[in-house]
Amino acid sequence: MSQNLLEVREISKFYGDVQAVRNVSFSLAEGEIGCLLGPSGCGKTTLLRTVAGFEDIAGGSISIGGRVVAGPSFVAPERRHIGMVFQDYALFPHLSVADNVTFGLEGMSAGERRRRMTDLLETVGLDSEKHRFPHELSGGQQQRVALARALAPEPKLLLMDEPFSNLDVALRESLSSEIRDILKARSITALMVTHNQNEAFAMADKVGVLSQGAMQQWDSPYAVYHHPSNVIVAGFVGEGGLINGTVVDRSAVQTALGVLSADIDVPFEVGCDVSVLIRPEDIVHDDNSPHYAKVVSKTFRGPTILYVLQLDSGETVQALVPSHHSHGPGQSIGLYPDVQDLVVFERGNASVGE
Ligand code: ATP
Repeated sequence: MSQNLLEVREISKFYGDVQAVRNVSFSLAEGEIGCLLGPSGCGKTTLLRTVAGFEDIAGGSISIGGRVVAGPSFVAPERRHIGMVFQDYALFPHLSVADNVTFGLEGMSAGERRRRMTDLLETVGLDSEKHRFPHELSGGQQQRVALARALAPEPKLLLMDEPFSNLDVALRESLSSEIRDILKARSITALMVTHNQNEAFAMADKVGVLSQGAMQQWDSPYAVYHHPSNVIVAGFVGEGGLINGTVVDRSAVQTALGVLSADIDVPFEVGCDVSVLIRPEDIVHDDNSPHYAKVVSKTFRGPTILYVLQLDSGETVQALVPSHHSHGPGQSIGLYPDVQDLVVFERGNASVGE
């Protein structure tokens, strides 16, 4: 039997002729947090709903805590021991914060209900608000109540569907790392859907990048960013673009930025034409460098400027530069490559970016 708390094996889901989920497999160990990431319509929510039991599956299987809940047999959502947090909080408006949290605890003694409610409201920092009603709370506070309510029955697995998308950007990042800390302190296994990679990176032990219903990569946030498994992942996660290269050594590629080398062998033969991923932070602006590129455009981001630079080959790369180095379009600026992770793909027609 599997050690994993959640085991999703080769599942598929159709809506009529539309295949929303294609042969997807992934797993979460107990206490791990996973995030499903991908563009609108890629199947994230459908996948989460199949785990919850709100959707059936056409093939494959899902196990929670070693028990098959979908596939050969089907276990109803309320019997899967899952907690859910939704985008719109879904609190009961006519119930106080305390009553919202204890709502799902029928069959438990009044003392135990009160103990769990107090414990969870303290955990989410809302013990002093327990007599208030949802409309008297901010969005961030309502989402904390929703989390406390979802955790109150002590579910095996917590599912969260875009829980931060109604909150402002600053709150999203602080709440996502705060919720991660709460889940980690309680060893809760969780799966979250988001289309925001910063949220996924702040929350997740494992990130799953989906495209057109298929899992492109299921890996650590670091690996998904630094070692994307294909051009789809490279394009969706982070910024940057591809330039042409030719493998000149087992671990070195000749490009318009010079010879870029890696600590590991590239997975192509010497002489192969390849595409090399260049992230904006791989390009360092240095007025003293003998290598120049022409500024095509720039975007001011406060602490940094994102430049699009044209190389002698005609190819463009992006460069993230401290914003006190301000140069206008058409100007030539010095640069050198500082590529730590050499990410190389087979040369094709594919381009990175959406
Ligand atoms: P978003 O980020 O926009 O919420 P998503 O990645 O969560 O998108 P899904 O909502 O899972 O994507 O949709 C995946 C595909 O399944 C889409 O093509 C969508 O149109 C289709 N789909 C989703 N729900 C239904 C439904 N109830 N009936 C028919 N098609 C559906």
